[in-house]
Amino acid sequence: MRLDHPRCFGFVPSSPAWPAVVADFMAAGYNVNQCTWLVASGPSQLELVVIDWFRRWLGYPEGAGGLFTSGGSAASVDAFVAAREAAGHPERATVYMSDQSHSALVRAAMIVGVRRECIRMIPSDEGFRLDMDALARTVAEDRAAGFTPVAVAANAGTVGTGAIDRLEAMADYCAAEGLWLHADAAYGGFAVVTERGRQLLRGIERADSIGLDAHKWFFQPYEAGCLLVKDANTLRDAFAVRPDILQDTVWGANHPNFSDLGLQLSRSARALKVWMSVQTFGMAKFRRAVGKGMDLAAQAEAHVRASPVLEAMNAATLGVVCFRVNPADGDLDEAALDEVNRTVLARMFWDDPAFMSSTMLHGTFALRMCFVNHATTWDDVRETLEAVERFGREALSKADAPE
Ligand SMILES: *Cc1c(COP(=O)(O)O)cnc(C)c1O
Repeated sequence: MRLDHPRCFGFVPSSPAWPAVVADFMAAGYNVNQCTWLVASGPSQLELVVIDWFRRWLGYPEGAGGLFTSGGSAASVDAFVAAREAAGHPERATVYMSDQSHSALVRAAMIVGVRRECIRMIPSDEGFRLDMDALARTVAEDRAAGFTPVAVAANAGTVGTGAIDRLEAMADYCAAEGLWLHADAAYGGFAVVTERGRQLLRGIERADSIGLDAHKWFFQPYEAGCLLVKDANTLRDAFAVRPDILQDTVWGANHPNFSDLGLQLSRSARALKVWMSVQTFGMAKFRRAVGKGMDLAAQAEAHVRASPVLEAMNAATLGVVCFRVNPADGDLDEAALDEVNRTVLARMFWDDPAFMSSTMLHGTFALRMCFVNHATTWDDVRETLEAVERFGREALSKADAPE
Protein backbone atom coordinates (compact mmCIF):
# COMPACT_ATOMS: atom_id res chain seq x y z
CA MET A 1 0.00 0.00 0.00
CA ARG A 2 1.13 3.54 -0.72
CA LEU A 3 0.34 5.17 2.62
CA ASP A 4 1.48 8.47 1.11
CA HIS A 5 -1.11 8.44 -1.70
CA PRO A 6 -3.38 11.52 -1.48
CA ARG A 7 -6.41 9.20 -1.45
CA CYS A 8 -5.09 6.98 1.33
CA PHE A 9 -7.33 7.83 4.30
CA GLY A 10 -7.03 4.58 6.27
CA PHE A 11 -5.48 4.16 9.73
CA VAL A 12 -3.04 7.07 10.14
CA PRO A 13 -1.37 7.65 6.76
CA SER A 14 1.96 9.36 6.24
CA SER A 15 3.16 11.80 3.60
CA PRO A 16 6.83 12.65 4.00
CA ALA A 17 8.29 15.95 2.85
CA TRP A 18 11.13 15.41 0.36
CA PRO A 19 13.90 17.18 2.34
CA ALA A 20 13.20 14.72 5.16
CA VAL A 21 13.74 11.84 2.75
CA VAL A 22 17.07 13.36 1.67
CA ALA A 23 17.98 13.75 5.36
CA ASP A 24 17.31 10.07 6.04
CA PHE A 25 19.47 9.20 3.03
CA MET A 26 22.29 11.33 4.43
CA ALA A 27 21.91 9.96 7.96
CA ALA A 28 22.12 6.43 6.57
CA GLY A 29 25.00 7.32 4.23
CA TYR A 30 27.13 8.87 6.97
CA ASN A 31 25.94 6.07 9.24
CA VAL A 32 25.45 8.45 12.15
CA ASN A 33 25.10 6.81 15.55
CA GLN A 34 23.24 9.39 17.60
CA CYS A 35 24.11 7.82 20.95
CA THR A 36 26.58 10.07 22.79
CA TRP A 37 28.05 13.55 22.46
CA LEU A 38 31.54 12.14 21.84
CA VAL A 39 30.37 9.98 18.95
CA ALA A 40 27.84 12.44 17.46
CA SER A 41 28.17 15.97 18.81
CA GLY A 42 26.72 17.69 15.73
CA PRO A 43 23.68 15.41 15.47
CA SER A 44 23.23 15.68 19.26
CA GLN A 45 23.19 19.47 19.02
CA LEU A 46 20.62 19.20 16.23
CA GLU A 47 18.44 16.92 18.34
CA LEU A 48 18.63 19.43 21.21
CA VAL A 49 17.53 22.17 18.82
CA VAL A 50 14.59 20.26 17.35
CA ILE A 51 13.45 18.97 20.76
CA ASP A 52 13.54 22.59 21.92
CA TRP A 53 11.31 23.61 19.00
CA PHE A 54 8.82 20.95 20.06
CA ARG A 55 9.11 22.10 23.68
CA ARG A 56 8.19 25.65 22.74
CA TRP A 57 5.37 24.62 20.39
CA LEU A 58 3.81 22.56 23.19
CA GLY A 59 4.22 25.33 25.77
CA TYR A 60 6.57 23.32 28.00
CA PRO A 61 8.89 25.26 30.34
CA GLU A 62 12.67 25.49 30.02
CA GLY A 63 14.06 22.49 31.83
CA ALA A 64 11.83 20.21 29.84
CA GLY A 65 13.62 17.79 27.55
CA GLY A 66 13.25 14.63 25.61
CA LEU A 67 14.44 12.56 22.72
CA PHE A 68 13.50 11.09 19.39
CA THR A 69 12.24 7.52 19.43
CA SER A 70 11.25 5.01 16.80
CA GLY A 71 7.61 6.03 17.25
CA GLY A 72 4.76 6.61 19.64
CA SER A 73 5.00 3.05 20.95
CA ALA A 74 8.59 3.47 22.13
CA ALA A 75 7.74 6.92 23.50
CA SER A 76 4.97 5.30 25.58
CA VAL A 77 7.37 2.70 26.98
CA ASP A 78 9.91 5.37 27.94
CA ALA A 79 7.15 7.49 29.51
CA PHE A 80 5.83 4.64 31.64
CA VAL A 81 9.37 3.75 32.78
CA ALA A 82 9.86 7.38 33.88
CA ALA A 83 6.47 7.36 35.63
CA ARG A 84 7.17 4.07 37.37
CA GLU A 85 10.60 5.19 38.58
CA ALA A 86 9.25 8.60 39.72
CA ALA A 87 6.73 6.66 41.83
CA GLY A 88 9.51 4.58 43.38
CA HIS A 89 8.78 1.43 41.37
CA PRO A 90 6.00 0.21 43.66
CA GLU A 91 4.60 -3.30 43.91
CA ARG A 92 1.08 -3.74 42.53
CA ALA A 93 1.30 -0.69 40.27
CA THR A 94 -1.79 0.32 38.30
CA VAL A 95 -2.11 2.60 35.26
CA TYR A 96 -5.20 4.30 33.82
CA MET A 97 -6.30 5.16 30.32
CA SER A 98 -9.57 5.38 28.42
CA ASP A 99 -11.22 2.71 26.32
CA GLN A 100 -10.29 4.91 23.33
CA SER A 101 -6.57 4.87 24.13
CA HIS A 102 -4.12 3.45 21.62
CA SER A 103 -3.09 -0.20 21.91
CA ALA A 104 0.53 1.03 22.15
CA LEU A 105 -0.20 2.28 25.67
CA VAL A 106 -1.56 -1.08 26.78
CA ARG A 107 1.51 -2.78 25.35
CA ALA A 108 3.84 -0.21 26.94
CA ALA A 109 2.27 -0.81 30.35
CA MET A 110 2.72 -4.57 29.92
CA ILE A 111 6.36 -4.07 28.88
CA VAL A 112 7.18 -2.00 31.99
CA GLY A 113 5.77 -4.77 34.15
CA VAL A 114 2.23 -3.65 34.92
CA ARG A 115 0.10 -6.76 35.16
CA ARG A 116 -2.60 -7.02 32.51
CA GLU A 117 -5.36 -6.86 35.12
CA CYS A 118 -3.78 -3.70 36.57
CA ILE A 119 -4.21 -1.76 33.32
CA ARG A 120 -7.50 0.04 33.92
CA MET A 121 -9.50 0.97 30.83
CA ILE A 122 -11.79 3.82 31.93
CA PRO A 123 -15.00 4.22 29.91
CA SER A 124 -15.33 7.18 27.54
CA ASP A 125 -18.36 9.46 27.23
CA GLU A 126 -20.47 10.11 24.11
CA GLY A 127 -17.73 12.49 22.89
CA PHE A 128 -15.17 9.64 23.26
CA ARG A 129 -13.44 11.44 26.13
CA LEU A 130 -12.33 9.74 29.32
CA ASP A 131 -15.02 9.82 32.03
CA MET A 132 -13.39 11.73 34.91
CA ASP A 133 -15.81 10.46 37.56
CA ALA A 134 -15.08 6.88 36.59
CA LEU A 135 -11.35 7.62 36.76
CA ALA A 136 -11.57 9.09 40.28
CA ARG A 137 -13.78 6.22 41.43
CA THR A 138 -11.44 3.56 40.03
CA VAL A 139 -8.31 5.15 41.52
CA ALA A 140 -9.99 5.39 44.95
CA GLU A 141 -11.15 1.77 44.79
CA ASP A 142 -7.68 0.62 43.76
CA ARG A 143 -6.02 2.51 46.62
CA ALA A 144 -8.49 1.01 49.08
CA ALA A 145 -7.67 -2.45 47.71
CA GLY A 146 -3.92 -1.98 48.21
CA PHE A 147 -2.85 -1.13 44.65
CA THR A 148 -0.51 1.78 43.90
CA PRO A 149 -1.79 3.99 41.07
CA VAL A 150 1.22 5.25 39.14
CA ALA A 151 0.19 6.95 35.90
CA VAL A 152 -2.77 8.24 33.93
CA ALA A 153 -2.57 8.44 30.15
CA ALA A 154 -4.60 11.19 28.48
CA ASN A 155 -5.51 11.15 24.82
CA ALA A 156 -4.40 14.28 22.99
CA GLY A 157 -6.21 13.11 19.90
CA THR A 158 -7.47 9.53 19.91
CA VAL A 159 -6.59 7.58 16.84
CA GLY A 160 -10.22 6.47 16.44
CA THR A 161 -11.99 9.83 16.30
CA GLY A 162 -9.42 12.53 17.13
CA ALA A 163 -11.16 13.11 20.48
CA ILE A 164 -9.16 15.02 23.08
CA ASP A 165 -9.55 14.14 26.76
CA ARG A 166 -10.19 16.94 29.29
CA LEU A 167 -6.51 17.76 29.65
CA GLU A 168 -6.90 20.59 32.18
CA ALA A 169 -9.18 18.58 34.45
CA MET A 170 -6.91 15.54 34.20
CA ALA A 171 -3.87 17.69 35.05
CA ASP A 172 -5.70 19.09 38.11
CA TYR A 173 -6.71 15.62 39.18
CA CYS A 174 -3.26 14.06 38.70
CA ALA A 175 -1.55 16.94 40.54
CA ALA A 176 -3.94 16.52 43.48
CA GLU A 177 -3.49 12.74 43.55
CA GLY A 178 0.25 12.69 42.92
CA LEU A 179 -0.08 10.70 39.69
CA TRP A 180 2.08 10.97 36.59
CA LEU A 181 0.11 12.35 33.66
CA HIS A 182 1.22 11.18 30.22
CA ALA A 183 -0.36 12.83 27.18
CA ASP A 184 -0.44 10.52 24.18
CA ALA A 185 -0.25 13.05 21.37
CA ALA A 186 1.25 10.66 18.83
CA TYR A 187 -1.60 11.30 16.45
CA GLY A 188 -2.80 14.81 17.32
CA GLY A 189 0.16 16.58 18.95
CA PHE A 190 1.48 18.50 15.97
CA ALA A 191 -1.85 20.30 15.69
CA VAL A 192 -0.25 22.68 18.24
CA VAL A 193 1.61 24.43 15.42
CA THR A 194 -1.74 25.94 14.39
CA GLU A 195 -3.72 28.41 16.50
CA ARG A 196 -6.82 26.17 16.32
CA GLY A 197 -4.86 23.12 17.45
CA ARG A 198 -3.25 25.02 20.30
CA GLN A 199 -6.68 25.99 21.62
CA LEU A 200 -7.94 22.42 21.31
CA LEU A 201 -4.91 20.98 23.10
CA ARG A 202 -4.80 23.55 25.88
CA GLY A 203 -3.53 21.96 29.07
CA ILE A 204 -1.18 19.54 27.32
CA GLU A 205 1.73 21.58 28.71
CA ARG A 206 0.70 20.48 32.21
CA ALA A 207 1.33 16.78 31.49
CA ASP A 208 4.48 15.22 32.94
CA SER A 209 5.27 13.66 29.58
CA ILE A 210 4.06 13.96 26.00
CA GLY A 211 4.44 11.43 23.18
CA LEU A 212 4.56 12.73 19.59
CA ASP A 213 4.86 11.16 16.13
CA ALA A 214 6.45 13.38 13.50
CA HIS A 215 5.90 10.55 11.00
CA LYS A 216 2.17 11.23 11.21
CA TRP A 217 1.02 14.86 11.22
CA PHE A 218 4.45 16.42 10.69
CA PHE A 219 5.17 14.92 7.28
CA GLN A 220 8.24 12.84 8.10
CA PRO A 221 9.22 9.39 6.85
CA TYR A 222 9.21 6.53 9.37
CA GLU A 223 10.62 6.40 12.03
CA ALA A 224 10.17 9.72 13.82
CA GLY A 225 8.56 9.46 17.24
CA CYS A 226 9.41 11.65 20.18
CA LEU A 227 9.00 11.79 23.94
CA LEU A 228 9.11 15.04 25.87
CA VAL A 229 9.11 15.25 29.65
CA LYS A 230 8.37 18.38 31.65
CA ASP A 231 11.43 17.78 33.83
CA ALA A 232 14.31 16.41 31.76
CA ASN A 233 15.87 14.90 34.91
CA THR A 234 13.04 12.38 35.23
CA LEU A 235 14.24 10.59 32.08
CA ARG A 236 17.88 10.73 33.10
CA ASP A 237 17.06 9.39 36.58
CA ALA A 238 15.03 6.57 35.07
CA PHE A 239 17.45 5.47 32.34
CA ALA A 240 21.05 6.48 33.10
CA VAL A 241 23.43 3.56 33.56
CA ARG A 242 27.20 4.11 33.49
CA PRO A 243 29.06 1.16 31.98
CA ASP A 244 32.88 1.23 32.06
CA ILE A 245 33.08 0.73 28.31
CA LEU A 246 31.40 4.14 27.84
CA GLN A 247 33.37 6.02 30.54
CA ASP A 248 35.03 8.24 27.91
CA THR A 249 31.64 9.58 26.83
CA VAL A 250 30.70 11.28 30.11
CA TRP A 251 31.19 14.98 29.32
CA GLY A 252 28.80 16.66 31.70
CA ALA A 253 25.41 18.33 31.50
CA ASN A 254 26.18 20.61 28.55
CA HIS A 255 27.12 17.63 26.41
CA PRO A 256 24.21 15.25 26.96
CA ASN A 257 24.19 11.66 25.84
CA PHE A 258 20.81 10.87 24.35
CA SER A 259 21.40 7.20 25.08
CA ASP A 260 20.91 8.08 28.77
CA LEU A 261 17.33 9.20 28.17
CA GLY A 262 15.64 6.15 26.75
CA LEU A 263 15.81 2.53 25.73
CA GLN A 264 18.15 2.83 22.72
CA LEU A 265 21.94 3.07 22.81
CA SER A 266 22.67 3.00 19.06
CA ARG A 267 20.23 5.43 17.46
CA SER A 268 19.75 6.84 13.99
CA ALA A 269 19.87 10.62 13.56
CA ARG A 270 16.13 11.29 13.41
CA ALA A 271 16.17 15.00 14.25
CA LEU A 272 18.01 15.77 11.00
CA LYS A 273 14.95 15.14 8.84
CA VAL A 274 12.69 17.40 10.89
CA TRP A 275 15.36 20.10 10.94
CA MET A 276 15.98 19.92 7.19
CA SER A 277 12.31 19.97 6.24
CA VAL A 278 11.55 22.94 8.48
CA GLN A 279 14.66 24.78 7.23
CA THR A 280 13.60 24.11 3.62
CA PHE A 281 9.94 25.08 3.80
CA GLY A 282 9.61 27.29 6.87
CA MET A 283 6.98 26.95 9.57
CA ALA A 284 4.27 28.86 7.70
CA LYS A 285 4.03 25.99 5.20
CA PHE A 286 3.86 23.40 7.99
CA ARG A 287 1.12 25.37 9.74
CA ARG A 288 -0.86 25.49 6.51
CA ALA A 289 -0.38 21.78 5.83
CA VAL A 290 -1.44 20.76 9.35
CA GLY A 291 -4.37 23.18 9.27
CA LYS A 292 -5.49 21.72 5.94
CA GLY A 293 -5.99 18.34 7.61
CA MET A 294 -8.43 19.94 10.06
CA ASP A 295 -10.14 21.86 7.23
CA LEU A 296 -10.65 18.72 5.16
CA ALA A 297 -12.06 16.86 8.15
CA ALA A 298 -14.50 19.70 8.85
CA GLN A 299 -15.55 19.80 5.17
CA ALA A 300 -15.94 16.03 5.11
CA GLU A 301 -18.07 16.14 8.25
CA ALA A 302 -20.26 18.87 6.70
CA HIS A 303 -20.67 16.76 3.55
CA VAL A 304 -21.62 13.73 5.65
CA ARG A 305 -24.15 15.71 7.70
CA ALA A 306 -25.75 17.09 4.54
CA SER A 307 -25.91 13.69 2.82
CA PRO A 308 -29.29 11.90 2.76
CA VAL A 309 -27.58 8.48 3.07
CA LEU A 310 -24.74 9.15 5.52
CA GLU A 311 -24.72 9.60 9.29
CA ALA A 312 -21.88 11.42 11.12
CA MET A 313 -20.48 9.55 14.12
CA ASN A 314 -18.02 12.04 15.61
CA ALA A 315 -17.33 15.74 15.84
CA ALA A 316 -14.25 16.04 13.64
CA THR A 317 -12.12 18.24 15.93
CA LEU A 318 -8.77 16.98 14.65
CA GLY A 319 -8.29 15.42 11.22
CA VAL A 320 -10.51 12.34 11.63
CA VAL A 321 -14.09 11.82 10.49
CA CYS A 322 -16.17 8.73 11.29
CA PHE A 323 -19.51 8.02 9.68
CA ARG A 324 -21.68 5.28 8.28
CA VAL A 325 -24.30 4.66 5.65
CA ASN A 326 -27.60 5.17 7.49
CA PRO A 327 -30.32 7.09 5.63
CA ALA A 328 -32.39 9.44 7.77
CA ASP A 329 -35.59 7.75 6.55
CA GLY A 330 -34.14 4.21 6.83
CA ASP A 331 -35.65 1.43 8.90
CA LEU A 332 -32.82 -1.12 9.08
CA ASP A 333 -31.85 -2.49 12.48
CA GLU A 334 -28.27 -2.21 13.82
CA ALA A 335 -27.23 -5.64 12.57
CA ALA A 336 -28.45 -4.89 9.04
CA LEU A 337 -26.75 -1.47 9.07
CA ASP A 338 -23.52 -3.14 10.16
CA GLU A 339 -23.82 -5.53 7.23
CA VAL A 340 -24.50 -2.69 4.75
CA ASN A 341 -21.46 -0.75 5.94
CA ARG A 342 -19.18 -3.77 5.86
CA THR A 343 -20.32 -4.33 2.28
CA VAL A 344 -19.56 -0.70 1.42
CA LEU A 345 -16.07 -1.00 2.90
CA ALA A 346 -15.45 -4.18 0.88
CA ARG A 347 -16.51 -2.33 -2.29
CA MET A 348 -14.09 0.48 -1.41
CA PHE A 349 -11.33 -2.12 -1.04
CA TRP A 350 -11.96 -3.92 -4.31
CA ASP A 351 -13.15 -1.11 -6.61
CA ASP A 352 -10.42 1.01 -5.05
CA PRO A 353 -11.53 4.60 -5.67
CA ALA A 354 -9.62 5.43 -2.47
CA PHE A 355 -8.51 3.65 0.70
CA MET A 356 -10.31 4.03 3.99
CA SER A 357 -10.56 1.82 7.04
CA SER A 358 -13.11 1.16 9.77
CA THR A 359 -13.37 1.05 13.52
CA MET A 360 -15.88 0.27 16.25
CA LEU A 361 -17.29 3.26 18.15
CA HIS A 362 -18.90 2.13 21.41
CA GLY A 363 -19.82 -1.11 19.68
CA THR A 364 -21.03 0.33 16.37
CA PHE A 365 -19.24 -0.27 13.08
CA ALA A 366 -17.96 3.01 11.62
CA LEU A 367 -16.19 3.99 8.40
CA ARG A 368 -13.23 6.20 9.15
CA MET A 369 -11.13 8.70 7.20
CA CYS A 370 -7.97 10.41 8.46
CA PHE A 371 -6.53 13.53 6.81
CA VAL A 372 -2.84 14.08 7.38
CA ASN A 373 -1.54 14.19 3.80
CA HIS A 374 -0.36 17.60 2.60
CA ALA A 375 -1.13 16.61 -1.02
CA THR A 376 -4.79 15.64 -0.46
CA THR A 377 -7.33 17.99 -2.06
CA TRP A 378 -11.03 18.50 -1.35
CA ASP A 379 -11.79 16.80 -4.69
CA ASP A 380 -9.99 13.67 -3.41
CA VAL A 381 -12.17 13.71 -0.31
CA ARG A 382 -15.44 14.63 -2.04
CA GLU A 383 -15.09 11.95 -4.72
CA THR A 384 -14.31 9.37 -2.03
CA LEU A 385 -17.42 10.33 -0.06
CA GLU A 386 -19.48 10.23 -3.25
CA ALA A 387 -18.21 6.71 -3.93
CA VAL A 388 -19.30 5.70 -0.41
CA GLU A 389 -22.74 7.19 -1.05
CA ARG A 390 -23.01 5.33 -4.39
CA PHE A 391 -21.95 1.98 -2.89
CA GLY A 392 -24.18 2.72 0.10
CA ARG A 393 -27.27 3.19 -2.06
CA GLU A 394 -26.52 -0.08 -3.88
CA ALA A 395 -26.04 -1.99 -0.63
CA LEU A 396 -29.21 -0.46 0.84
CA SER A 397 -31.33 -1.43 -2.14
CA LYS A 398 -30.09 -5.05 -1.80
CA ALA A 399 -30.75 -5.00 1.96
CA ASP A 400 -34.30 -3.72 1.34
CA ALA A 401 -35.06 -6.23 -1.41
CA PRO A 402 -37.34 -9.12 -0.33
CA GLU A 403 -35.57 -12.47 0.13
C1 LIG B 1 0.33 5.86 16.09
C2 LIG B 1 -0.02 6.05 17.51
C3 LIG B 1 0.68 5.38 18.51
C4 LIG B 1 1.78 4.39 18.20
O1 LIG B 1 2.84 5.02 17.54
P1 LIG B 1 3.85 4.23 16.56
O2 LIG B 1 4.61 5.36 15.96
O3 LIG B 1 3.02 3.50 15.56
O4 LIG B 1 4.68 3.35 17.40
C5 LIG B 1 0.32 5.64 19.82
N1 LIG B 1 -0.69 6.46 20.13
C6 LIG B 1 -1.39 7.12 19.18
C7 LIG B 1 -2.51 8.03 19.58
C8 LIG B 1 -1.09 6.92 17.84
O5 LIG B 1 -1.78 7.57 16.90
